Amino acid sequence: MKHVDEVKINSLLKIEATKEEICSILKKTKQLKRLSLEESAKLLSVTDSTLLEKIYETAFYIKNAIYGKRVVIFVPLYISNFCANSCLYCGFAANNKLSVRKKLTIAEIKKQTEILLKRGHKRILMVAGEMASSKENIDYYIDAIKAIYSVDYKGNKIKRVNANVAPMSVGDFKRLKEAGIGTYQIFQETYHEETYRKLHIAGRKIDPNNRLDAIDNAFKAGIDDVGIGPLLGLYDHRFEVLAMLMHIEYLEKTYGIGPHTISVPRIEPAPGSAYASNPEYLITDEEFKKLVAILRLSVPYTGIIMSTRETSRLRDILVNLGVSQISAESKVTPGGYEENSVHNNKLERQFSINDQRSLDEIAYSLLSQGFLPSFCAACYRKKRTGQHFMDLAKPGEIKNMCDINALVTLKEYLEDFAKPEVKKLGYKLIEEYKIRLDGSSLNILEKFFKNIDNGIRDEYI
Ligand code: SAM
Ligand code: SF4
Repeated sequence: MKHVDEVKINSLLKIEATKEEICSILKKTKQLKRLSLEESAKLLSVTDSTLLEKIYETAFYIKNAIYGKRVVIFVPLYISNFCANSCLYCGFAANNKLSVRKKLTIAEIKKQTEILLKRGHKRILMVAGEMASSKENIDYYIDAIKAIYSVDYKGNKIKRVNANVAPMSVGDFKRLKEAGIGTYQIFQETYHEETYRKLHIAGRKIDPNNRLDAIDNAFKAGIDDVGIGPLLGLYDHRFEVLAMLMHIEYLEKTYGIGPHTISVPRIEPAPGSAYASNPEYLITDEEFKKLVAILRLSVPYTGIIMSTRETSRLRDILVNLGVSQISAESKVTPGGYEENSVHNNKLERQFSINDQRSLDEIAYSLLSQGFLPSFCAACYRKKRTGQHFMDLAKPGEIKNMCDINALVTLKEYLEDFAKPEVKKLGYKLIEEYKIRLDGSSLNILEKFFKNIDNGIRDEYI
């Protein structure tokens, strides 16, 4: 597999570190410096509970230094579960005869978008299976993205459409960019070649390099916000972390920037997949916490995404350890957001969901822990992507600007969608923020807030 030196990773996994070495690595990370592979491997070797606590404390510190208390919220929109590939862990696999197939029409995509807008969502992750024809894929994705952006519900529109879809050529990525895609996301699933080949048995996905090349193609087409990640449970998670960091080193060296986000999906049971109910490398909650914290330390400027595959209890813990984006009230079936949808039956689902809370319940939970739920997409819309975003994110500068934008989106949510108890908590948090803002930032915020009270929406800096 390209970019992955298995021999080197296996030797790094044998490294052990002294307490002094770990403390000195943690000191370095506090200056928001990127870690070397060897340093990350040393952190992965930690088992001592006192040192683990120190790792968690440092991850908390870094999360605050770069992202503040903001947590960005998005929702996935599954548009099609037709798939020509056979990934042994997925409910949409072509060889999964149980799956009921559905490809949403453009009218249905608009309907789903309107339902999500009515609940207060502003950021969508579009998800689809991969069809055999590349042309069919790209034409459908583009029509779908345009349809999502076109929906207007009482002045509310989707601000950013990210996409987790099939790999494509540079030319097709250029078309995707023109259609206004935010982040292009693709998971390598496993960076371990033998395991990869064992689990992907039909379709274009049998070639692991096809997925790695997709990231290069996206960059070459000018899409500079890309999201990557392993599917945890397929192979040793420590191997996956180091291999992904190696992949990131390659991207940094080649394009000057790494991924915009990292996702850490854990495998969940899926209809028709015996493998998904019994994966070979289950990762425990404790190992998972450690992995998230170490990623936060290793690539401090990269967003970490946590999906509703995880329980509400664990997600509440992980936002303290480095997670900066979470999904809310996800349905993993095309058409699943319809009230009492017939599509939410077990056979159409991609996998099981563990956090079933509504957006408002999640907002309440974040606010009660002092987090600021954000629906902001200002950076993308102001073209602060790729290198420009990283230049702001690396020294922690993004925090001030983002606080204002996030507070504006929060007030809009509170006014338009929140229940009274959420509104009360939200305004309490806003007041706490106002005290901390400097004079000029406060003036900007107050101007935006006044405009919201006068019915104006969607302002940002
Ligand atoms: N078909 C495209 C692909 O495979 O890249 C994109 C959509 S696919 C539905 C999105 C992701 O779902 C996959 O990359 C995989 O990591 C994840 N996934 C598949 N089966 C899963 C399972 N049983 N549990 C958790 N995540 C799963
Ligand atoms: Fe298809 Fe993606 Fe599922 Fe694989 S993970 S079967 S490519 S939808």
